[in-house]
Amino acid sequence: MDDAPFYPAPGIAYQTLDGISGRYFECLTMRATLTPQACALNFAASTVLGEGRYASCHRCKIGRAHAGERAGLESEDVGWRCCRCGPSGQSRIIGGALCVSCYNRTREAIGMKDGRGSIPVGILEQLRPGWAIVGELPPPDADRPSPCVPLLETSRRLLAATPSLYRLATGCFLLVAVVESLEELHRTIRRKLPGVRVMSAGVEPTLLEFHEVGIDPNEWLRVGGC
Ligand SMILES: [Zn+2]
Repeated sequence: MDDAPFYPAPGIAYQTLDGISGRYFECLTMRATLTPQACALNFAASTVLGEGRYASCHRCKIGRAHAGERAGLESEDVGWRCCRCGPSGQSRIIGGALCVSCYNRTREAIGMKDGRGSIPVGILEQLRPGWAIVGELPPPDADRPSPCVPLLETSRRLLAATPSLYRLATGCFLLVAVVESLEELHRTIRRKLPGVRVMSAGVEPTLLEFHEVGIDPNEWLRVGGC
């Protein structure tokens, strides 16, 4: 994120550290030395993430200033606790993306089995594989450790009930998620990888359509992703 723009916050003294590029400041809330860019990412995450992550950054004026114009962009996600159904009343958000009932429906769709053991046609016709090819991942921090991202070619099943990430090449990753719409896919990308550069993204036919023509959506995505 070295090339992320720098928006100074009023009243903050910035310093440089010996031998390290970039500016830093002391964040009293996080009790940490941060770059303004890292602060902006924390702030952006605090506007959307469930599970109390970055809760201390929520509505922070310094964070909002560091996020610059991007604060406006991120605010479109306010109220979307669950990336699919929005202000879900359920407290748990699974995989940082879905409420429990949306997660369970997705799992039934992927397993092709509902609670009674039959094919959940109604769910399959609403859900579709979504994918995005993205650039370098946001820098890891204490709350979001550096993910160990598997290579695409060594992963057999790409679709899971929560968004998954695969390495395509150096600095190039594939995010795969089961979604209802392109809007949900973009919400998921902003949630999971705040600030990431999206090179291309799209959604595929519904899982019901895949089922009807007998094509495995995992294979379909693999061919598209390589
Ligand atoms: Zn939901």
